[in-house]
Amino acid sequence: MDTADLAAPEAVTLAPAPTPPAVRVDVQPVAKGIWWLAGSGNHRSIVFEFDDHLVLFEAPVNEARTKAVIDAARALSAKPLTHAIVSHHHFDHSGGLRVAVAEGLTIVTHRDNEAFFKDLVSRPHTIAPDALAKNPKPMTLELVDDTLTLKDDAMEVQLYHLLDNLREGTNLFAYVPRERMLVHADLYDSTWLQHLWGENVLQNIERRKLRVDRHVPVHGAIEPFADMVKNIKTKTSVQEGV
Ligand SMILES: [Zn+2]
Ligand SMILES: [Zn+2]
Repeated sequence: MDTADLAAPEAVTLAPAPTPPAVRVDVQPVAKGIWWLAGSGNHRSIVFEFDDHLVLFEAPVNEARTKAVIDAARALSAKPLTHAIVSHHHFDHSGGLRVAVAEGLTIVTHRDNEAFFKDLVSRPHTIAPDALAKNPKPMTLELVDDTLTLKDDAMEVQLYHLLDNLREGTNLFAYVPRERMLVHADLYDSTWLQHLWGENVLQNIERRKLRVDRHVPVHGAIEPFADMVKNIKTKTSVQEGV
């Protein structure tokens, strides 16, 4: 074999580009003015309806997923979708950042994500121009240090920085006091076999004095909070786990 010849074989160069899997967004109401946008994949977004605008929680994975989610959110109401809360920098949560900016959404995130997010939106996409390359826009950021409350007569969403978590240093989670609902990314997933930072998550909820009845996650299923606590307590260590 001639290892100097790295040309792709004809079967590859002549083959049509693979079609990306179809993106499906299933919209599920979870409370008054709150929808869970699930469907294909295991990365959900949440929509909050305020008096005169909508706010999205999470711009996940890539342009296709996040654009589909933005379109689904806009179909829910005549109110404009104005903000996207991006919980943290991991790609499955921020991969849709550029299309969210191109769609004119203000990005709400933790201050420590600022430099990375600015870098992401400043990159030229010349080989395969994406939504932001085709429609360049400056990013408007609303940065959160410890907490931020978004509130009007219709909705209140409190955002909290997840503290002292070794894996999720810049993670923001949300709490809806009226529903006692925790909305979060990567804090917990019912399908995980171990919850290595689960105790930290429970400590954060206690520290913020939140009374949670139900959690609505980006990954995994919606569950009563009691089930989440039980899973964390019983699957924290290898010995106690599966
Ligand atoms: Zn993460
Ligand atoms: Zn994740």
